[in-house]
Amino acid sequence: MEKALIVIDYTVDFVAADGALTCGPPGQSIENNITQLTKGFLSDGSLVVFAVDVHENDDPFHPEAKLFPPHNIRGTKGRDLYGELKPLYEEHKSKDNLIWMDKTRYSAFCGTDLDVKLRERGINELHLVGVCTDICVLHTAVEAYNLGYRIIVHRNAVASFNQTGHEWALGHFESTLGASVL
Ligand code: ZN
Repeated sequence: MEKALIVIDYTVDFVAADGALTCGPPGQSIENNITQLTKGFLSDGSLVVFAVDVHENDDPFHPEAKLFPPHNIRGTKGRDLYGELKPLYEEHKSKDNLIWMDKTRYSAFCGTDLDVKLRERGINELHLVGVCTDICVLHTAVEAYNLGYRIIVHRNAVASFNQTGHEWALGHFESTLGASVL
């Protein structure tokens, strides 16, 4: 079974202490787990996708404009990968099994060619990590479920600023999306 690791929104704005929409310490605490998983997938030749929110400055038509403060604005440091992930990405970015995928909605599939990239590589098993468990990871998992992928969520490599939402989403992945939560 071909597998891919989808690293969702693990950027400065979502994780760093001074990030614009930060998960705070829960987000920072998963850095090493995400880094180790990423290294493992890269070294065994499996695909790693960095799915990263991108927003334009002052876009009144974007639905998130009414819901969240500005974050992950194109061209800003807030969109850099957080911590060890940034040098790891720089080191491996020319490799065939590493993809950077900008996304403009919660789901990494919405408005992107992620599904096509996965299908052309014969991938049918998705490992999800990153933030926030109950927003972008959740919406990506829902779409992966609808598209027929097998889903694995790494409990120690997802986080949210909302602990209740985090716990709820972990249950939903298993009970409703048939995911394995490891
Ligand atoms: Zn966003």
